[in-house]
Amino acid sequence: MGHLMKCEECGRELDRKTAEKINEIRTFFPNHHTPARCPQCQFKAEREAEKKREETEEAEYQARVPELIADAGIPDGYRYRRDNGLSTVEGGPIVEHAASWVWDHRRDNLLLSGKTGMGKSTSACYAAMRLIAEHKRVRYIKLQRLLCEWSEARKNDSVHGEQEFFGRFRRLDLLILDEVVGKTKDTDSRREMMIELLDEIASGEIKMRLWMLGNYRTNSIDALFGEENREPSRRRIEENFVCAGITENSVEVFHVWP
Ligand SMILES: [Zn+2]
Repeated sequence: MGHLMKCEECGRELDRKTAEKINEIRTFFPNHHTPARCPQCQFKAEREAEKKREETEEAEYQARVPELIADAGIPDGYRYRRDNGLSTVEGGPIVEHAASWVWDHRRDNLLLSGKTGMGKSTSACYAAMRLIAEHKRVRYIKLQRLLCEWSEARKNDSVHGEQEFFGRFRRLDLLILDEVVGKTKDTDSRREMMIELLDEIASGEIKMRLWMLGNYRTNSIDALFGEENREPSRRRIEENFVCAGITENSVEVFHVWP
């Protein structure tokens, strides 16, 4: 019949339609090697090529992870262990019980409290680094710095500036807001930003997770969102966040409302 062609992989004789199609492709692309494959072997070959491409892409992504971690704003000091110089991803987290608690709650919004040195920031950053390796988009920033960006964004056109500002969060999977308590001044601007942020998270407008780190005291939340917003803000935090305090050897969940 003139269409005798065998599959290069399994040696099976190809049906007329497949053989004709291969001849056609070879005529159009004479300089390109078009293998003779039966439909099954062709399917298999395409799947293998796809898998190889994915593996290459993943390897390229993993090679970029250290750069992505730096771009996320994670401080160098939280990336390496001071005792042996190893990166925490390889050498393990700095404060084990805190880091594993945070990792277990990585899908929650968190209000994380604890004194300096209890491992809030290093644990949150440890989880963040692992999340970045899993292709999540993360940003770490101190409240003071975010407030600067907020006032910068609202400088010229406050409506568009605010939209642009909150638009950035829509492209994130996780925002770690550090030093939420203590280091910033109690201002209207801070209250407005914090209320808006909480609103957008509670309403689901912003899908990212928010972790708010600080050494919280009884009145910290009211100071952040305004004494007059005590009930709605505490209620929103209660409904949308897991609140926990890190101590020397444990992590205790607590409640802010009622
Ligand atoms: Zn075959």
